[in-house]
Formats: sequence, C-alpha cells, structure tokens
Amino acid sequence: MSFTLAIVGRPNVGKSTLFNRLVGKRLALVDDQPGVTRDLREGAARLGDLKFTIIDTAGLEMATDESLQGRMRMLTERAVEMADACLFVVDARSGVLPADEIFADILRKKNAHVILAANKAEGKAGEAGLMEAYSLGLGEPLGLSAEHGEGMADLAYVLRPLIDLAEKESVDHTPEVDVDLTDEDEELGDDEVVEYIPPSASKPLQIAVVGRPNAGKSTLINKILGEERLLTGPEAGITRDAISVMTEWSGTHMRIFDTAGMRKKAKVQEKLEKLSVSDGLRAVKFAEVVVVLLDVDIPFEQQDLRIADLAEREGRAVVLAVNKWDMEGDKQDKLKSLKEQFTRLLPQLKGAPLITVSALTGRGLERLHDAILEAHQVWNTRVTTSALNRWLVGMLEQHPPPAPQGKRIKLRYMTQVKARPPGFVVMASHPDLLPASYSRYLVNGLREDFDMPGTPIRLFMRSQSEANPFKGRKKPGRSKLRKHIEGRKD
Ligand code: GDP
Ligand code: GDP
Repeated sequence: MSFTLAIVGRPNVGKSTLFNRLVGKRLALVDDQPGVTRDLREGAARLGDLKFTIIDTAGLEMATDESLQGRMRMLTERAVEMADACLFVVDARSGVLPADEIFADILRKKNAHVILAANKAEGKAGEAGLMEAYSLGLGEPLGLSAEHGEGMADLAYVLRPLIDLAEKESVDHTPEVDVDLTDEDEELGDDEVVEYIPPSASKPLQIAVVGRPNAGKSTLINKILGEERLLTGPEAGITRDAISVMTEWSGTHMRIFDTAGMRKKAKVQEKLEKLSVSDGLRAVKFAEVVVVLLDVDIPFEQQDLRIADLAEREGRAVVLAVNKWDMEGDKQDKLKSLKEQFTRLLPQLKGAPLITVSALTGRGLERLHDAILEAHQVWNTRVTTSALNRWLVGMLEQHPPPAPQGKRIKLRYMTQVKARPPGFVVMASHPDLLPASYSRYLVNGLREDFDMPGTPIRLFMRSQSEANPFKGRKKPGRSKLRKHIEGRKD
C-alpha cells in the first residue's frame, strides 16, 4: 500500500502537466473499474527520493456540457476517497475563481488532508494569485510551476512527513484522511479539542467482532442485528473480500464487518469454516473499532492476544468483551483475575475497556455499545495546536529532556497531524537522540491530560533543523480576508 496523493482542481490549472512531471513515463491507466473511475488516471510518482502514487482527475477537459460540474464533483469525491492526501491546484495567474471555491468546499466536507498549490507561479504574474489563494481557507499555498519545475522541493518538503506517517501506519484503510489543525485553531477559541461528530447513516461507525472460534461472535452479532434485520443483510463491502451489514444499534449507525457467522447466514459461496485468524485480520483492516470477544472459560488465548495486538498496531480502537458471562459463577473474583490478566498480557492496550457480556441473554450489551462509542470518540480526538503547545511547555518544565553526549535536546513545537488514531509531530533539535522513554513520557501525558484512554497514540519526532512546515500557515484574519476578496472584485 503506497501513499496516494490525488491532484484535484478545475480544468486548465495544470493538473496534467504536474501529473506528467511527477510520473514521467511511468504511467498506468486505471481501466478496470466501472463508471466514473475510468476518468481517474493513476501513476507511480517520484519526487526526489519520495515515491508515491498519484491520481489525477484527467479527462475532465473532455466534458463540455452542463454536466461538467456534477462530474467534477463526483470525480473529485472519488479521488479524495481513494487518496491519503489531496493536492488542490489553483491557477496563480487567473486567481481564485468561483469554481475553485466549489472544490475547496468539497475538500472541506470530505475532511481531506489538503495541500494547496497555486500553479503557474513562475515570475511576477503569479504573485497576486498566490496571495489570493489564502482566501480559500486551506492554509498556506505552495507556489508551483509545473511547467518549469519550480516549487518541487517545497512540495516534497510538505509531503515527506505525510508519507512517513502513512508508512509507519502500514496498512490503514480508514476511510478518510485528516486535516491538520493548525488553521482551525482560530475558530476554536479556547476549546482544547475539536467537537466529536457522532456516527450517522452516511458515516456509520465501522466495527469488527473478532475472536477465537466459538467465542460467540455470531450470537453476539445476531443479537445486535435482531433476527429481522438479517433479511436486509449482508451486502458487498468496500472490497470483494469483506462483507458487512449496516444496522442501528441503540440509536448508533454501525457497519459490522466480516465474520464467519455472517457468512453462514448470508449463504455466501465461500468456505464455511469458522472464523480463522486471517479472516479476523481482514476484518480489522476495515474497522474503526475492533471488538475482541473472549470466551469467559478460556480468555486471553494466544489467538486472542495476537489479534488484539494486531488491532493496536494497525491503529484501531480496541474494546475487549468477555462473553458467556451468564455461565460464570463467581463473577467478582473472575472479573478481578480478568483485569489482572489484561494488564499483564496486553500492556499496549492500557486503558482500553473490558466489558462483560452475555450474547445469549443480551446482558451487558448496552454497556458494550457505550464502550464502543466512547472508544470511537477517543480515537477521533483532535487537540488544537495551541493547547498542545501550552501543554508541551508544562511537560518540558516538569521533566526536561536529557542532554545525551552533552547535546541538549530541544523540543520546540508540536502539532497533531492526524486523528483516527491521534498522531502528533514534535519538532526537536536532535530527534534521533531522544530516548524512547521520553517519548513514552509524552504519550502517557497526552493520554492523561487530553483524556485519551485506550487508544493508540502515535508520536513522531521531526528534526528542527529543517524549516518548520507549520510556520506561516496561519491564514489572514476573517475581516482582512474579506476586504482582500472584495477589494479584488471591484
Ligand atoms: P489541467 O486541465 O488542469 O490538467 O491543465 P493542463 O496540465 O492541461 O494545463 C493547462 C494549460 O496550462 C496548458 O496550456 C499548460 O501548458 C499550462 N501550464 C501548466 N503548468 C503551467 C505552469 O507552471 N506555468 C504556466 N505558465 N503554464 C502552465
Ligand atoms: P462464533 O464461532 O464465535 O461465531 O460462536 P457462536 O456464536 O457460533 O457461539 C458458539 C457457541 O457458544 C454456541 O453454542 C452459542 O450458543 C454459545 N454462546 C454464545 N454466546 C453465549 C453466551 O453469552 N452465553 C452462553 N452460555 N453461550 C453462548
């Protein structure tokens, strides 16, 4: 899975020129997908030592009828969904046009990670347009010249941390990509975290129920769905090899992924063996929250531990559920020993919820629902840059970083670059020398102070000797902006 960048923007801004520059001869056409995706070009791009995939909404210039706008929207949305980040290109020579605003709007709604570029910025003719691109509210525009190859180093500089992060995340099929918060702070005022948007019919919470055979996965899912729901059930998922059902569980829209039990019910023509580890692994990839279902008689089996660990490494929120609780005689003692085993065997999931349930009777399912929703919320946490930096100052004062080999390590700046799960970048003077224990100190502090129990937290150190990519990303104040735009219209 390579990092994918989508080039979007209205016709004639220079997308193809940029695409060709980045791809050179290594062009591949995406022609095996039906419908709109035929119009998406895909290529293996290279920029300095960076390698990634780019997709381009080519073919738009061919559409001349009034359906163009709709097609543009559709293609752009497709491209955004397929990509890890978007390069939104405007034309520095023509300035910001109404069509550009439409694109900005789509990107904002899709919650995409956007790199804004003003192309054709070579020479003086592009200066005003470059300035004007700030008005799109998508941060600082990069000045590019696709034709003359200018600004490519800047592009590489902005892309590098995103690509690094995506690689560290390995396979991340989380459906959407994140915006960095640098530019949102202004509107957020004093709030430390961005408000959580609960799941909806169009954005259901995606869960997978995994666990060893006979743990009770099918029983649990059937209980959640209610028998009648199965009639509407299984439909093809995002890919051919995942099956999912949509349901509304206690008022929360959810999509439940791929289990052997569902296959049985669906009579899907596949081997009807019990859920194997590899089925579980696949389900994990599509889920936001992974419910690891344990059998109270044989909890924390090797297989359970492996899949829980995998879910954490894949950056999923994890909820542990101990099933068949109705069978348990000495509930109090058992719970104590379960908690002890959890802490000892899965330290990487510290703080994740452990819920006792009976899939058979339905006891505890309400608590399981609440734990899933809460884990999802924590996993979506977005902390503002200003709050983070205030926090960082305190952490540094309390416990200054070490000075290995006499070199004082300075941590200067911090920002959240992604959510789902939360990922942070710290600018440091000698990131390679910073001991892992110090990173752990920061991660534990983040967990505690911003209330993120149980979720994977990613922390990356970046060298401060490189220029600060977040510097100057503040957009002009609202009123200044408006004046600027209105001034231009006169
Ligand atoms: P697309 O429709 O967005 O794919 O745009 P194209 O790549 O087809 O470019 C549209 C026009 O802009 C072509 O005539 C290009 O030669 C021109 N163009 C592309 N990049 C630049 C640039 O950096 N500077 C200038 N001056 N022209 C450019
Ligand atoms: P799966 O292989 O994980 O899908 O497990 P199943 O849902 O097929 O359940 C395996 C067995 O455990 C079945 O006989 C279920 O009736 C039983 N079972 C499932 N949940 C419970 C429960 O909460 N309590 C009890 N006592 N039995 C359960």
